[in-house]
Amino acid sequence: MSKLKNKVAVITGANSGIGLATAKLYLKEGAKVVLSGRRKEAFDEVAKNLEGDFITVVADVSIDDDNKRLIKVATDKYGKIDILFLNAGIAPVTPTTDITVEHYNEIFDINVKGPILTTKEALPHINDGGSILFTNSIVHQKGFEGLSVYSASKGALRAYSRVLTSEVRSRGIRVNSIAPGPIETPLYGKMGLPQDVVKEMGKGFAAQVPLGRFGTSEEVAKTALFLASEDASYINGVELEVDGGLSQI
Ligand code: NAD
Repeated sequence: MSKLKNKVAVITGANSGIGLATAKLYLKEGAKVVLSGRRKEAFDEVAKNLEGDFITVVADVSIDDDNKRLIKVATDKYGKIDILFLNAGIAPVTPTTDITVEHYNEIFDINVKGPILTTKEALPHINDGGSILFTNSIVHQKGFEGLSVYSASKGALRAYSRVLTSEVRSRGIRVNSIAPGPIETPLYGKMGLPQDVVKEMGKGFAAQVPLGRFGTSEEVAKTALFLASEDASYINGVELEVDGGLSQI
């Protein structure tokens, strides 16, 4: 049975990695999906391989007018929203000694301001009983070197999601977060590090994970399906780790 039949889902950061895998799974489960992302060329490629009822919207989550346009296009097309998946994010590595204002602003604009302001725009259009999901990270529970501002941004997002859980209680909207551990996605290639350093870092992360490997986007997507669906009808306000056990040891 289709778990998301006739549901409308808006997903940010949907042109690659976790967002794209989730869009594919949601479409398979009968949802109408609005895929949003920054790169038009990526969507041109991605759209060729997608099946189902979907639209793509090029929008930068750090730009407020783009967030407004995203929600307008989504609701003009599908009316209401049932699932809002705030997934877009970046994770450039910089030790505290090298942090610049630009580095800080870029990460907080995309990882914190973006999801919060997109939520604000979407809220009036989300059906009562709907579901809001954030892609957070286990980084704010640990202390991985070099991920200072990134970890702080995800900690901020976790704090925000708790408040939102209270704020939408009268409407029966559930708010949950997914905290991936190391997941094999294009994210690592965008960290601003040489390829061999990324490879070594990857080996280091995998060795720390009790399951001994990176996770896949599809494994995170299955969690995003569970949390958004009726299967998770009494799960609210949580952050669910999808990390092979890394955060628990
Ligand atoms: P990814 O790079 O494949 O996906 C990130 C997506 O965000 C891309 O589609 C990108 O276009 C989009 N994006 C980036 N900046 C944007 C902006 N300004 N406006 C709109 N879209 C923008 O990597 P991913 O691993 O799939 O990342 C998805 C989420 O998962 C991120 O929030 C990331 O922090 C989180 N995460 C990833 C891992 C991991 O190991 N891959 C671990 C923990 C958390």
